[in-house]
Amino acid sequence: MMGIFDSHAHYDDSRFSDDGFSLLEQLFTSGSVSGIINVACDKKSCYTSKILADAFPFVYYASGVHPHAASEWDDETEELIRTQLQEKKCVALGEIGLDYHYDFSPREKQKEVFERQLQIAKELDVPVILHSREACEDTMQLLRKYRPSGVMHCFSYSPEIAKEVCDLGLYVGLNGCVTFKNAKKPKASAVVIPEDRLLIETDCPYMAPEPHRGVRCDSSLLPFVVAELARLRQTDEALLIAQTEENAKRLFRIS
Ligand SMILES: [Zn+2]
Repeated sequence: MMGIFDSHAHYDDSRFSDDGFSLLEQLFTSGSVSGIINVACDKKSCYTSKILADAFPFVYYASGVHPHAASEWDDETEELIRTQLQEKKCVALGEIGLDYHYDFSPREKQKEVFERQLQIAKELDVPVILHSREACEDTMQLLRKYRPSGVMHCFSYSPEIAKEVCDLGLYVGLNGCVTFKNAKKPKASAVVIPEDRLLIETDCPYMAPEPHRGVRCDSSLLPFVVAELARLRQTDEALLIAQTEENAKRLFRIS
């Protein structure tokens, strides 16, 4: 079994509080993962993501504020993100974006905080990890304006948008959602993404792939995502694993 690069995980989530460290240890000793990016969503998880990255050589992290937490944005948070992005293990600004499905923060606030973080990423020349749900138009408008480098994770839009995202120079991240029977758009988009732009992720503890949908997800379930992507793209699983690891390391400048 080749190690798979998990480009988007949340091992600092409370659902891993009992066994997260031993689980990570086991994932690496078993060789099932080749690297993990632990992605922050709010100020607290910027700190907890860093703790995980400091503890494990193959764990990297992203520092940023998710649209759900946009309302908590303040100068102190910006300072923290800027400081963390100077560290070697902090490889991206994220996750950032817009979520009009839950609307946990007001849309105007989400847009303001997303735009601010896109500006910081430009200024510091770092990639971004994008979250966009039911907010395609507003997201694309800002991406066309700022043209960041980065990845749109948990991609849920049409193949046409996938193509435009790649034309803008971005990568596309797919996870367990691509295995769901009703996931017409992710399945159709999985086919059009160029091989040098595709990333694989868990988004754990969420998005456990079929046939484990609904359980707590972790990186050991990635082979189900790889199998479905290989089937859809009519390619070899080993090639897909090697290519997506190479893509992640290129994007996040990991040597
Ligand atoms: Zn996430």
